[in-house]
Amino acid sequence: MEQQKHLPVMLDEALQGLEIQPEGIYLDCTFGRGGHSKAILDRLCGDGKLLAIDKDSEAVNSSVAMTLGKDSRFEIVQESYACLQQIVDKRGWNGKVMGILMDLGVSSPQLDSAGRGFSFLHSGPLDMRMDTHKGLSAADWLANVKASELTEVLKLYGEERFARRISYAIVAEREQAPIVNTRQLADIITDAIPFREKHKHPATRSFQAIRIYINHELDDLRVGLQQAVNVLKIGGRLVVISFHSLEDRIVKRFFRDEQRGGDFSKYLPIPTEASEPRLTKIGKAIQPSTMEVENNPRARSSIMRVAERI
Ligand code: SAH
Repeated sequence: MEQQKHLPVMLDEALQGLEIQPEGIYLDCTFGRGGHSKAILDRLCGDGKLLAIDKDSEAVNSSVAMTLGKDSRFEIVQESYACLQQIVDKRGWNGKVMGILMDLGVSSPQLDSAGRGFSFLHSGPLDMRMDTHKGLSAADWLANVKASELTEVLKLYGEERFARRISYAIVAEREQAPIVNTRQLADIITDAIPFREKHKHPATRSFQAIRIYINHELDDLRVGLQQAVNVLKIGGRLVVISFHSLEDRIVKRFFRDEQRGGDFSKYLPIPTEASEPRLTKIGKAIQPSTMEVENNPRARSSIMRVAERI
């Protein structure tokens, strides 16, 4: 299904952050529907290259990917960006990449198609996998997970204060009937929560938590960031757009540690085991304009950080 629109978040800001060199090699780690990729490619000359990655076969086979695929400067790979170093190595581009973009999270088409099972607003099979050929679906995971583990996941990745109540409700329900539908899960969660947050569906936090866990999003991010710095050329740029505080915290700390050469206090002398700093932060964290948020609700919680390989 191609009709769902996906507007790229902070497009101008991301292009500016990447400081595109027309003859450079670029990586878009999260192709989605190619909003950022298209704009990057437009700014490259005949010698430039853009390698796009996405875990999701629907993104890789989308009509945008097909169209861009006719351009010899463009290539797309279905993989996790947690394997980006291997993908770059294969092409002999290690240390030659001029810019890397990571626009984290889910795309609008993933959220909007009921069949992918990401959304509590549409009734669909409870899947939530970005790569539907790898790992357990949300339904399969929920069928067997221990209540204590589920509670931890809801707390850790959803910052859900009613995590225990919700996980016990899920475990009680699955003994009656398997939980296989997004609406069914959303209803169980809604009934388990004693009161509601304003302007937030009661299942928002739990769906986020389950999605992050199922797709090991935060682990991929940690690995992907490391590998991104490993392959960047000196002077190359890393631009990361996050959508919630858990992601942003990882990016922020990673940039800080790579700038300092390790995870240690700035109030103490630099320890001898400190490594060479590899990044310098460029500017402050950037948030979208109010106009962008009005036009594109997906941009609402976004925050962008930029760093340069030194
Ligand atoms: N910038 C894109 C939108 C990206 S949405 C655009 O403008 O169109 C985020 C995309 O990242 C989704 O398609 C999702 O499948 C992909 N994704 C999330 N985690 C990933 C990972 N670890 N590896 C590769 N792709 C990932």
